Amino acid sequence: MRRYSRSRTNHVQEGQVATKISEFSPLSFFLIRARALTYTIYVILVTCYIIVVLFRDWFRHNWRINIMEFACPRCRGGSMRITSSIELPPDSRSDEITVQILKCSKCGFAGLGIYEETRRGRLDSESIHHRGYYVDDSTLASIERMISKCLKPKKSGCRCRIHRSLGCVNEFGRWNWLEKIPYKETFKLQII
Ligand SMILES: [Zn+2]
Ligand SMILES: [Zn+2]
Repeated sequence: MRRYSRSRTNHVQEGQVATKISEFSPLSFFLIRARALTYTIYVILVTCYIIVVLFRDWFRHNWRINIMEFACPRCRGGSMRITSSIELPPDSRSDEITVQILKCSKCGFAGLGIYEETRRGRLDSESIHHRGYYVDDSTLASIERMISKCLKPKKSGCRCRIHRSLGCVNEFGRWNWLEKIPYKETFKLQII
């Protein structure tokens, strides 16, 4: 009697295992993989979207820094790139102020670039001023050294000595550091 019941139990367990094996068919295996793949792609796309939304300004800034090339005012055949830059706090007129060092890869010409962007006024209005300045080599080298000393040149809210010095404003809150820089003329920054 005891032997009979044990063999019956074994029979039931074998049946369960057989059912489990039959459930694990190639089709169900493929469906599980396909579902997992769809879920993974969905998670990747959502993550990419969140990254783009959160770091939109950072991408815009880096695109401007790394990709943009400008016509060289001296040799005309070469292209100038922004080799270093520092973002300054907004003032009474501009939402973005950036001081840049521009260098030509062909003739070695170097100049100062000032980028100002205003998004005030009408909702769809956006005003951008981007000009180059002919500055003597020693002044430009000292500005470049100053930029390199700030640990967070892309943070306009940085409160370091360099940011305070470059971001000085007059009594009306207008940025006036440029008035202290001896420059001869300005040149147009033409994107190529
Ligand atoms: Zn050049
Ligand atoms: Zn700083």
